[in-house]
Amino acid sequence: MVVVGGGLTGLEAATEIAEARPDLDVALAARGGLGDWLSPKGRAHVRKVFGDLGITAHEHTAVTTVGTDHVTTGEGDAIPAAVTVWTTGFAVHPIARATTLEVTDTGRIVVDATMRSVSHPDVYAIGDAALAMGPGGKPLRMSCASGTPMAWQAADAIAARLTGGKLPKTAPRYFNQCVSLGRGQGLIQYVTADDRSINATLTGRLAARYKELICKGAAWGVSHPTLGLPTRRRHVLPTPATSTTPTRTTA
Ligand SMILES: Cc1cc2nc3c(=O)[nH]c(=O)nc-3n(C[C@H](O)[C@H](O)[C@H](O)COP(=O)(O)OP(=O)(O)OC[C@H]3O[C@@H](n4cnc5c(N)ncnc54)[C@H](O)[C@@H]3O)c2cc1C
Repeated sequence: MVVVGGGLTGLEAATEIAEARPDLDVALAARGGLGDWLSPKGRAHVRKVFGDLGITAHEHTAVTTVGTDHVTTGEGDAIPAAVTVWTTGFAVHPIARATTLEVTDTGRIVVDATMRSVSHPDVYAIGDAALAMGPGGKPLRMSCASGTPMAWQAADAIAARLTGGKLPKTAPRYFNQCVSLGRGQGLIQYVTADDRSINATLTGRLAARYKELICKGAAWGVSHPTLGLPTRRRHVLPTPATSTTPTRTTA
């Protein structure tokens, strides 16, 4: 079986499958080097886990076609593949592109630092569907690590605009990338605010547990959206049109 794509999803898929099914020959084809955005320590750990699990890494290999029993590389070589797992990147729903909203060429809604559409001030967008700039003017990547702070930023901005409060200006930042490498191995790669790897990592079983905790926490948060989170209420400013007898509502 061949996993195509050497990003976070590809690394997680290849290791997870190889660990669960040691009877399979698992390979990964990556356009770049294996974990080439990671720190030297992070890269070395990924290589070690791949070696331990017997995964073949085809580095600097672009896959151009997928056949029924093989994939073909840009060099014209065939890699046997009874099953191909395609993990070469996320895409967004085409719905935004079908509107007059300003979108990127991949269809993501372009938003400012308050997550408000740059073309339509009444529209806010967050998560994978939005393109916002992070620290250093770099676009935030599609991830939960971006989506959650984007949601906070949008909620704070909407509340601030309704209540005359201070608009949030600080761009969401990154702290780490959490990669599971099978059930018993993981890699926590610490990063700069703008998501560049630094040479500090957490590896092994502890890292796997850490990542598992995050996944379980996220699943729990989705299924219990109103539990355990503090609520904040702010008074909405009366608008001039309705301000003859000011009434107060909450947001
Ligand atoms: C295998 C995998 C592993 C990942 N691991 C990590 C990780 O470790 N850390 C991390 O930070 N990120 C990770 N991510 C990325 C993360 O899951 C996404 O970035 C995140 O889920 C984006 O959140 P979102 O709410 O923008 O979009 P989504 O989570 O994709 O949610 C979009 C929702 O909108 C719904 N929807 C779509 N169109 C419509 C419509 N027209 N009407 C109504 N509903 C609609 C969909 O059904 C879906 O429920 C991973 C992703 C994958 C695929």
